[in-house]
Amino acid sequence: MPSGTVRTRIAPAPSGSIHVGNARTALYNWLLARQHGGVFVLRVEDTDQSRVTQDAFEAVLEDLRWLGLDWDEGPEVGGEYGPYRQSERSDRYRAVAAALEDTGHAYRCYCTAEELSQRRARAQSARRTPGYDGRCRNLTDAERAAFESEGRSFALRFRVPEDRTIAFVDVVRGPIATRSDQIPDFVVRRSDGSPTYMLAAAVDDMAMEITHIIRGEDLVAATPRQLLIREAMGVTETPVFAHLPLLVAPDGKPLSKRWGDVAVSAYRRMGFLPEALVNYLALLGWSFDEKTNIFSVDELITKFTLERVTRNPAIFDIPKLEWLNAHYIRLLPPEALAERLVGVCADAGLPAGSDEGKRLLGLVAPLLSERLKRLEEAPPMVRFLFGPVPPDAKAAKLLDGKRPYLEEVAGALGGVEEWAAGTIEETLRRVATEWDLKPKQAFQPIRAAVTGTLVSPPLFESLEILGRAETLARLTSTP
Ligand code: GLU
Repeated sequence: MPSGTVRTRIAPAPSGSIHVGNARTALYNWLLARQHGGVFVLRVEDTDQSRVTQDAFEAVLEDLRWLGLDWDEGPEVGGEYGPYRQSERSDRYRAVAAALEDTGHAYRCYCTAEELSQRRARAQSARRTPGYDGRCRNLTDAERAAFESEGRSFALRFRVPEDRTIAFVDVVRGPIATRSDQIPDFVVRRSDGSPTYMLAAAVDDMAMEITHIIRGEDLVAATPRQLLIREAMGVTETPVFAHLPLLVAPDGKPLSKRWGDVAVSAYRRMGFLPEALVNYLALLGWSFDEKTNIFSVDELITKFTLERVTRNPAIFDIPKLEWLNAHYIRLLPPEALAERLVGVCADAGLPAGSDEGKRLLGLVAPLLSERLKRLEEAPPMVRFLFGPVPPDAKAAKLLDGKRPYLEEVAGALGGVEEWAAGTIEETLRRVATEWDLKPKQAFQPIRAAVTGTLVSPPLFESLEILGRAETLARLTSTP
């Protein structure tokens, strides 16, 4: 491990809410920095200005904040190695590209996009390896001058040294060696003057003194190229590299929108708690032992190690995430759960933000704690507290012909002395016995009449919260 302070980074390209895979990468980087009392850097890779909007940029920051992954250096907090948006670092990339050209590590390539694609197609049909064929690698001065006089613009390509093996040790994947003939000369500066990802990320990782480069496995092929750029710039210290396994859907295919939600913001909207998502993301490719699944953030900070990250693809499994979420919901003190429910219920159109709304949610929260897998499930379960709910299809079917029974229930409840779950239960059981009904037969019609659904918090407590007058009104207004 490099000596000195551990410096890790997450380097998202801001294209809106971050992908859960990037969130996992951010988490591992953050955990390592926190574990070593190091520095977690947020660097925004927004060189492709055409795709970046302010909203997309802010969405990234919001997701990281929601997950609790605070950054020590980066946008909004600053730091000694800034600026932290690549769009503000163009001068540096230009200077490095020029230096690479001066030292012969990069050369001008005048090939047009069209020429490149024609030659690529020819190479493919001849079953030769695609990739740049080195056409401009050894141009004479005269050839260069001829291209320039044609008015051609040029890109800068990195001159990959011949006959070399570029080797590094990946903490997750073991030793990786690449022959240099497998690496075509790659573009470091486009013909419009902009840096490529390959250059910008390498330059920044050096300039920002990143000690651990932890990123997705899709970038493993970038590493030998970026090591060559480092070497060309005379940097000898090599960071620790770890390429994390791909996230896959339960069918083994890469996680994609086709399969379900991939954006962190979707999970937030669906009522997952950040602590559950963090716990879950930690387990996507890492395990402490065979058995333990529940880790608080503090435990993760102590226990996380890159050495225990697996190479195998990690399956993104919603039922497990829901199971963890249910666990974290149960852990919330009722007041905290009530507070989180206010937002979710307001989003669902309930007047939950009013004093009365908050009071009702405060009363009902302890009843929901054991029943929710996602906060999003709460609004339909508590809607009845905010006003009569017309019965849904199942409830309506059950209510058919129950009027006499419900009238009798209403009569009995009218005589209850103290309106409380216990006395309500006693009364309802008594009526059930008189009518010779099993508990379920007796209670479901009451639930249907009062809440409009067959899924609600426990009945007696629900009626207590709703109050006597409203309960009786609903029981007797059933057609
Ligand atoms: N910007 C890259 C991405 O979002 C990450 C680059 C890196 O980690 O080196 O995939």
